[in-house]
Amino acid sequence: MSLKRTIITRSDGETFELRQIENGDWLCPVCAESLRDCAPYAGDGRFGSQDICMRCETQFGHGDHPSGAETLQSNWKRLRFEWLQKSGWKDDDLKRLTEYLGIDTIVLRREAEGYFQMRDTNPAQ
Ligand SMILES: [Zn+2]
Repeated sequence: MSLKRTIITRSDGETFELRQIENGDWLCPVCAESLRDCAPYAGDGRFGSQDICMRCETQFGHGDHPSGAETLQSNWKRLRFEWLQKSGWKDDDLKRLTEYLGIDTIVLRREAEGYFQMRDTNPAQ
């Protein structure tokens, strides 16, 4: 399968990649769902499309907007953990993440465990 990759560098220096599948559909950077012809970010990556992913419900430029030490990609990762936790770590979802976003789901599970452990011991955050 060939994926088209678009690299965007934000003014804060963060560089991230967006992917499109063969028919031109953009992929959600959180869950790999098709966003059809709506790129979640474009240009200098400063503003998101404000569209909402139908699968993981991320609103690009809003729910994933970085503040403080956060980055867009750290927020995508956090949103991915939250979405998978809510949806129950379905095999099909994990397969999509590996196939389309190149995510190692064993590493992902390990990182998610750490994330939820930390979140649950620091409820103020
Ligand atoms: Zn999504």
